[in-house]
Amino acid sequence: MKHSKLVVANWKMYLNIHESSLLVQRLDKKIHLHRNVEVVLAPNFLSLYSINQEIDKRKFRLAAQDGFFVDEGAYTGSVSFSQMRQLIDYSIIGHSERRRYFNEGLGEVRDKVAAAVRNQIIPILCVGETKKERALKETKQVLHDQIVTALSNLTSQDVLNLVIAYEPVWAIGSTEPATPSIIEEAVSWIRYQIRELYGSEAEESVRVIYGGSDEPEYVNAIMKVPGVDGLLVGRASLNYEHFSDIISRVHLVALSQENTKAEDS
Ligand code: PEP
Repeated sequence: MKHSKLVVANWKMYLNIHESSLLVQRLDKKIHLHRNVEVVLAPNFLSLYSINQEIDKRKFRLAAQDGFFVDEGAYTGSVSFSQMRQLIDYSIIGHSERRRYFNEGLGEVRDKVAAAVRNQIIPILCVGETKKERALKETKQVLHDQIVTALSNLTSQDVLNLVIAYEPVWAIGSTEPATPSIIEEAVSWIRYQIRELYGSEAEESVRVIYGGSDEPEYVNAIMKVPGVDGLLVGRASLNYEHFSDIISRVHLVALSQENTKAEDS
């Protein structure tokens, strides 16, 4: 299965309803419709409904930043994937901020991934090592454990649409992203895990994106890393000029890759 590039804007807990709406209006003016780039916005729960009503659905899709793993019940304060299924196509799951500040463990992430899939929502599963784990040379083990557990309730069919975001925790909110060689090593390891679990069709079909201090000037280098299908953007997605610049650059990289492929065939 061949997908377009994917760029996801994680607005985290920054914007209120009015600010979210303003940002969408600005993005709509700046961002052109590109058939080779899918743009996904992830506002907070509060703004999901209004943003769903406002967006041009040919240009933007929506993601939640999280969701609860039970569909319905006495769970005060939670929002389930089943309640959001009419509003969103994707959901970020297992973001390192949720693992860190909300103590989300491997089992909870696994249950959320299964709940999203059960409700026809595509998980954007975030995986990545901390600075300490990298220093201890535990990166591969950490990625392995995060992936194997998170996907343990999925079939090979479910996995075809999955998105995995490699987000080294030490590169999030930092001054610069991980280097292309670090990203390449991690992405190829992630794809290898998928092949081991589900075979080569799944390995090729899964989209692997990179997140961690993506700014426009880094886009070319990151998008040219073999196996990288897109970006998960935090801070830079709150600035409409930076984010639209990121989209244009991803579009240009995608175009040049398409041209190279056409010349080779
Ligand atoms: C993130 O939190 O998913 C992220 C990529 O953040 P930032 O771009 O701000 O590093």
